[in-house]
Amino acid sequence: MLSITRVSALRTQFATFAKPAVAQQLARYSTAPSIPKTQKGCIFDTAGGPIEYKDIPVPTPKPNEILVNVKYSGVCHTDLHAWKGDWPLPVKLPLVGGHEGAGVVVAKGSNVQNFEIGDLAGIKWLNGSCMGCEFCQQGAESNCPDADLSGYTHDGSFQQYATADAVQAAKLPPGTDLAAVAPILCAGVTVYKALKTADLRPGQIVAISGAAGGLGSLAVQYAVAMGLRVLGIDGGEEKGNFVKSLGAEFFVDFTKEKDIVAAVQKATNGGPHGVINVSVSEAAISQSAEYARTLGKIVLVGLPAGAVCKSPVFNHVVKSLQIKGSYVGNRQDTTEAVDFFTRGLVKSPFKIVGLSELPEVFELMEKGKILGRYVLDTSK
Ligand code: NAD
Ligand code: ZN
Repeated sequence: MLSITRVSALRTQFATFAKPAVAQQLARYSTAPSIPKTQKGCIFDTAGGPIEYKDIPVPTPKPNEILVNVKYSGVCHTDLHAWKGDWPLPVKLPLVGGHEGAGVVVAKGSNVQNFEIGDLAGIKWLNGSCMGCEFCQQGAESNCPDADLSGYTHDGSFQQYATADAVQAAKLPPGTDLAAVAPILCAGVTVYKALKTADLRPGQIVAISGAAGGLGSLAVQYAVAMGLRVLGIDGGEEKGNFVKSLGAEFFVDFTKEKDIVAAVQKATNGGPHGVINVSVSEAAISQSAEYARTLGKIVLVGLPAGAVCKSPVFNHVVKSLQIKGSYVGNRQDTTEAVDFFTRGLVKSPFKIVGLSELPEVFELMEKGKILGRYVLDTSK
């Protein structure tokens, strides 16, 4: 380990005496004190294979990247998809998953202008994008064909030190509670953007399908904060009470109701004006096209493997429904979503466990036994 004084002394010494190439090498990134060479991380070699909690190298930031000492990371259902390898998008292997990382900037590449050592930063699903294609140009950076994805194509936040493109990394205000903000970095940004995509008016009803999960529990709160009335759909009494405690006016239990479409339409007097689909259920997604109100806006967010959304064409046309996909959010959506959190309008309901417990968290998630989010403490 090098102390900061030692690094500056070395830099001065090399700037004066060393060959230019060595001096350039040292000037390439600024570092904070005590960055170790190795760290703890959760890594797997094959899809669905063993997840090992072990010592792995600390990555070196590229000129455009920051190195974040990740303190906490949320566990998103996407991390489970990445581990299982069930999406038609290849993952990097071996892989360190995770894309809801919150921590402190400890080093930065020479091109980084917007972060200083000691700043708080968030690692998001969109680690970086080309910034030059037609989609990046329109601010739809998540849709960039060359997007680099944390915990998927780029080692993510299930480690103590992770790199992120400084352009995409989230700025977190000083004093932010890093455990509490972690789920905002994917779940919060995603549902906030999905609600904007639904384009509803205050007072209208939005159904959140999968309302007690990581995304759903935040969707309920963002929706309420945006002036919408909420109907939550999920399974079991505990999840129903939980969703109502977050501000939902109505709850439909998919494990009890025989006719979900009729139950949703009855509760909302003709169907919700909009639907945010965050469940990992193909059937639930197609049902949403049936129960939506005339002129309803159905937003697809959850990504069950191999799923297809079926909407009967007659119904679709005569009710003039809109079905839209929504994929995380851009930098502005991130700033806005974090701002709702900072102002206390949304609170992610979360439980903290150690990083080494990731396999157990995946098991609970697979069984649908999680209320809100699990957040991993990278020191354990
Ligand atoms: P989660 O496991 O925390 O929550 C899923 C919830 O859906 C659970 O509460 C579960 O009980 C509920 N559910 C299951 N079957 C249901 C049904 N038939 N009807 C209603 N609810 C049902 O998962 P999460 O972390 O919130 O992620 C949800 C999905 O969103 C995943 O597929 C994930 O990959 C995806 N995702 C998409 C984006 C995006 O940008 N589009 C971003 C993040 C996550
Ligand atoms: Zn996610």
